[in-house]
Amino acid sequence: MTLTEKILARASGKAEVKAGDNVWVNTDVLLTHDVCGPGTIGVFKREFGQDAKVWDPKKIVIIPDHYIFTSDSKSNRNVDILRDFVKEQGIPYFYDVIEDPNGHWVFDASQGQLKRQYAASYAGVCHTALPLKGHTRPGEILFGTDSHTCMAGAFNMFATGIGNTDAGFILGTGKLLVKVPETMHFRLEGRLPKGVMAKDVILHIIGDIGFDGATYRAMQFDGPGAQALDMDDRMTIANMAIEAGGKNGIFECDEKTIAFVNEKTRLNGTKSTFRPVDLDRDQTFIYDKTFDLSKLEPTIALHPDPGNRALARECAHIPLDRAYIGSCTGGKTSDFLAFAQIIKGHKVVIDTFGVPATPDVVQDLQNTEWKGKTVWAILEEAGVQMTENASCAACLGGPTDTFGRLNRPMNCITATNRNFPGRMGHKESKVFLASPYTVAASALTGHITDPREYL
Ligand code: SF4
Repeated sequence: MTLTEKILARASGKAEVKAGDNVWVNTDVLLTHDVCGPGTIGVFKREFGQDAKVWDPKKIVIIPDHYIFTSDSKSNRNVDILRDFVKEQGIPYFYDVIEDPNGHWVFDASQGQLKRQYAASYAGVCHTALPLKGHTRPGEILFGTDSHTCMAGAFNMFATGIGNTDAGFILGTGKLLVKVPETMHFRLEGRLPKGVMAKDVILHIIGDIGFDGATYRAMQFDGPGAQALDMDDRMTIANMAIEAGGKNGIFECDEKTIAFVNEKTRLNGTKSTFRPVDLDRDQTFIYDKTFDLSKLEPTIALHPDPGNRALARECAHIPLDRAYIGSCTGGKTSDFLAFAQIIKGHKVVIDTFGVPATPDVVQDLQNTEWKGKTVWAILEEAGVQMTENASCAACLGGPTDTFGRLNRPMNCITATNRNFPGRMGHKESKVFLASPYTVAASALTGHITDPREYL
């Protein structure tokens, strides 16, 4: 069996499953956030009753992160709906924006967008926060009401996005009927060359198979090239499985995975036992291809979809109005450090926005010093507008007062993960996906730029 089949077999109590089987699986973790959480709660209450209790409060993780730092009152209210539900159900893992369990969240626009407006409990973007808070464990099943839930496949989990109806059903039962996906095998060999990042790997792969090339399929990444990647890199790659239509993305478990998971579960006091799945000798794949990472170059997904691949060096003719670094995919500490490596000592020539994925990233950047200056200060001095308000921000547009949102037609290069029309705001904008290196180099020139010129 493939890694995905092994997890689904175990979670459904079967010795074996194969692609196409329909199985009832037990949920280990259900994730939801401020956009889909209220709808999910509504389905749960409608179907199971106003006084119904969730199947297991400890297996539910609720992370407000999407439309947080906005004056839009309906968005603010969504966080209050989550808080009320958490109180009613005794759910321990709720990463609230405010401290008071009886309070109401209201964003104070008069303080501006840059200075921190959240309590210590706040965790930032759900997919990046989930592993940091000790909720990702090898061999387990994660369902989340968000398409990029597949990011946790980096940790050898079966992790996939679901809709509010399925999530409402899980709240009541802990179970979901899943069709076992066929598996596509991506064997990675070689090491990333200078100037090339995990983002380039996944943009290259999606360019190869198309933005629908993995529809309802598992994308399994293994081989020596995968083992050489660190956990952040694996998260970037697994995150974008959905950009090829994938049901999930999944990596092997190795000592890096175990070290990360052990550290985070210990720090957060979350469940620390787990059983990884390893590679079988006999696996059936619907697709099988080897990629040599050492041959890759800085890659772009051109407007209007993540599969519209080009090389950065071929795109210098494309002028830009804006650069953006952030999101679950591209807003991790390692992403910002790579970005800063290119930016340091220069000035950006276009509007450039930096949105850390989590409060930990803000702290890391404010505590890391290069030659006596913090990375945060280096970015600010270069002209990057850095906000402490870690969130999804303009990755998915959001209300019009969202930090970094494209409120008029423009060309934007971004370290985020999706570029269908309208994704970051104005539907006539053009969004170009790239690595943090490439976003940085392009912010310095005002056109798409191969970052190797700066390294
Ligand atoms: S950062 Fe973007 S892709 Fe990630 S969860 Fe938020 S909106 Fe979705």
